[in-house]
Amino acid sequence: MMSKVHNFSAGPCILPDAVLKQASSAALNFDGLDLSLLEISHRSKSFVTVMENARSLVKELLEVPDGYSVLFLQGGASTQFLTLPHNFLMEGGKAAYVNTGTWAKNAIKEGGFVGEIDVVASSEDKKFTYIPKGFEIPSDVDYFHFTSNNTIYGSQFHTFPETEVPVICDMSSDIFSRPVDISKFAMIYAGAQKNMGPAGATLVIVRDDALGHTGRNIPSMLDYQVHIKKESMFNTPPVFSVYVSMLTLEWLKNLGGVPEIERVNKAKAELLYNEIDNNLMFRGVVEEMDRSVMNATFVLNDSSKEEEFNKMLAAGRINGLKGHRSVGGYRASMYNALPLESVQVLVDIMQAFASKNT
Ligand SMILES: *Cc1c(COP(=O)(O)O)cnc(C)c1O
Repeated sequence: MMSKVHNFSAGPCILPDAVLKQASSAALNFDGLDLSLLEISHRSKSFVTVMENARSLVKELLEVPDGYSVLFLQGGASTQFLTLPHNFLMEGGKAAYVNTGTWAKNAIKEGGFVGEIDVVASSEDKKFTYIPKGFEIPSDVDYFHFTSNNTIYGSQFHTFPETEVPVICDMSSDIFSRPVDISKFAMIYAGAQKNMGPAGATLVIVRDDALGHTGRNIPSMLDYQVHIKKESMFNTPPVFSVYVSMLTLEWLKNLGGVPEIERVNKAKAELLYNEIDNNLMFRGVVEEMDRSVMNATFVLNDSSKEEEFNKMLAAGRINGLKGHRSVGGYRASMYNALPLESVQVLVDIMQAFASKNT
């Protein structure tokens, strides 16, 4: 048998083996029905149970307080960039955003289609290699939006900005990776394909009483209150993605939940960043205190050695380490399902590479 592939892909990304096995079997025969999960009604008891389980696992794992709704929607996080201002931005109102990179920028752009966006801080001056700090959030904005983890550049908010205005966060690439106090947020959202499941579903957690104040007419598909009322079944939900997300959340629960996975995630990040800092062939891209636990970005000090290092990565069956096409270098995405063992294999290769070159 071939040795296993170590999958550092940034998204869609690694899912637990056990989840993939169960998902494959449900694609053939789901819930003993002799029918595929993909060919039954989303209104059937078997699927409604899946949707209910998925939503309640989210509530349990993130300790979502009463007064919040959990939704599985479609269109990815990118559609939320447009949907959320429809629901939170008053007619003639204004929202504050922080620009920490590509996804934050996209959220700012889409928000601008709905109303006025005030970019209150940005790290663009240093190619998004740090997290802005100490900035003011005006008290007259309708909400404040930020991106908790900068997937592409590899920076992460380790403490969250405090403000009296409603806070909305794109947690696509670090949700379920660490405990979060949901009560501090009016809304959190995340595309499934980084830490929760396959692409297709988007998780939205929204405080009910934060909705319905904009005075706008909101198209039904963009209206969170419509989706809440219909319990995420306003139209056909992304059934397979919701199912596999449910399995992944069950896997996480059995593992010990979010505090336990945070411990593992920190161990993985520490192992890799230690190597980046101590290995003379490499250097990290992001300021040390703002480094992401999920996506570690680094470059070779001598880029002419890239081909040699890439060959060693391929021989070690390391997948997905190439940096985002807009940044270059290397990016190791260490989402929940990536075992510590895979990071150790990468570190061993980095050390062997350094020995060959000194
Ligand atoms: C991947 C990603 C997105 C885009 O998600 P889609 O589901 O592809 O729209 C948005 N924000 C962050 C932080 C991401 O990592």
